[in-house]
Amino acid sequence: KLVSREFKKENTIIDVNGVKIGDKKITIMAGPCAVERLELTVGIAHEVKSAGATVLRGGAYKPRTSPYSFQGLGREGLDYLVEAKKQTGLPVVSEILDTRDIELFLEKADIIQIGARNMQNFELLKEVGAYDKPVLLKRGLSATIKEFLLSAEYIMSRGNRNVMLCERGIRTFETQYRNTLDMAAIPTLKSLSHLPVIVDPSHATGKWDLVAPMSKAAIAAGADGLLIEVHSNPECALCDGEESIRPSKFKELMGDLRKIAAAV
Ligand code: PEP
Ligand code: MN
Repeated sequence: KLVSREFKKENTIIDVNGVKIGDKKITIMAGPCAVERLELTVGIAHEVKSAGATVLRGGAYKPRTSPYSFQGLGREGLDYLVEAKKQTGLPVVSEILDTRDIELFLEKADIIQIGARNMQNFELLKEVGAYDKPVLLKRGLSATIKEFLLSAEYIMSRGNRNVMLCERGIRTFETQYRNTLDMAAIPTLKSLSHLPVIVDPSHATGKWDLVAPMSKAAIAAGADGLLIEVHSNPECALCDGEESIRPSKFKELMGDLRKIAAAV
């Protein structure tokens, strides 16, 4: 299989506007769960950049559990990300929900995110597979490692080799936190596949105070990067405020991560 280590021995390194993902240096993608107001988005982008993040995250189309929850700004949200990129130089990662939006994402996003809920949306996988735009594929809510890798294979088999795998926690019997971060998935995916492995400690825990310890553990376990929710005012966030860390906390975490990354 194209995803496998047997097929390709060397690590895949994905170049996103000069940011090399899967390289020795860890890649930190950070930003709000959802794109909200323009000034807020641009403000957070500046803060995460100054702390050392190299990719800006932000959802414009949000896959919410309840239809009454904030669904995202859509096209306008993508425009805010483009503006934030213009001001900071940070490439952006944003989630696509619908194959009909592919042209829009090819134009406005630097990395297309496929969320956990769409890990087995095979038409969406085939669609993003038809281009060479980098894809961040998240592990499904209850997906096995094998299923996860087969979803990546869907994308790669269509021609797109720029895929990164994102462990974001899985459903278990534990209810104390939102999901259970499968730490063993990190070295397992690294050995089964040549693709970069990114960890999302925010959705994996659902709790802001668990984000720093899980981030450190993920880097120590060999992750190539992290996807972290950062918000300047988490109490007022329109989505996932309870798992978002403040820029000050993010800055402190970045300092700790640099030390751990230097040691692994
Ligand atoms: C997200 O990263 O915005 C998101 C919705 O995550 P997940 O698909 O992992 O739940
Ligand atoms: Mn979120």
